[in-house]
Amino acid sequence: MPRYSTKLKLPFRLGGEYPDSVEVRRSDRKTVSLELRRDGVFFVRAPRKMEDARIIAFLKDREAWLRSHLKKQEEQRQNAADENGTPPGKLTGAELRLLAEQARDDLMTRAVRFAPMVGVSFGRVTIRCQKTRWGSCSSEGNLNFNCLLMLAPPEARDYVVIHELCHRLEMNHSPRFWAEVGRVCPDYRAQKRWFKENGGAILNRVFG
Ligand SMILES: [Zn+2]
Repeated sequence: MPRYSTKLKLPFRLGGEYPDSVEVRRSDRKTVSLELRRDGVFFVRAPRKMEDARIIAFLKDREAWLRSHLKKQEEQRQNAADENGTPPGKLTGAELRLLAEQARDDLMTRAVRFAPMVGVSFGRVTIRCQKTRWGSCSSEGNLNFNCLLMLAPPEARDYVVIHELCHRLEMNHSPRFWAEVGRVCPDYRAQKRWFKENGGAILNRVFG
């Protein structure tokens, strides 16, 4: 899962529950681009030397674009939530604690089941509620999972567990890594797609 370098405050308020900052990644590119990520965060790609003030001016010019894209995403999310029968409401602290408890058992059981199939061992299993990742695997083999996985279907949870276990073999997302994932989780592409299409709506129940 990606990490981003800096955050910039938006030059205007979007209102409601929308984040008031954008994520900016600078690289050796020549132009600026703007996209709305699935999690409702605006993401700017910019040339390395471009000043913050110029990026802010760029965003100011695109206020209408930002608003219309947020509105469209919100509508899509609402439709998806209606279809899945999942209430789009915010989760309370108590609900999150319950999810974390369930996640500990559920994901540990899956890790115990899949580790021999992947052919690896693992260390500690930690459950967190995170905005940017569903799981991770440290170089020591400790696994970390997002408690919000409990709102995903079981086969999607299997995929995340297998994905992180495969990082015990390959600490990257190379073709070799995906071949390992595919060996134990043949439908991993469908699961990735599921997260792409529905992950944002789940994360929004906490971070939206
Ligand atoms: Zn990974």
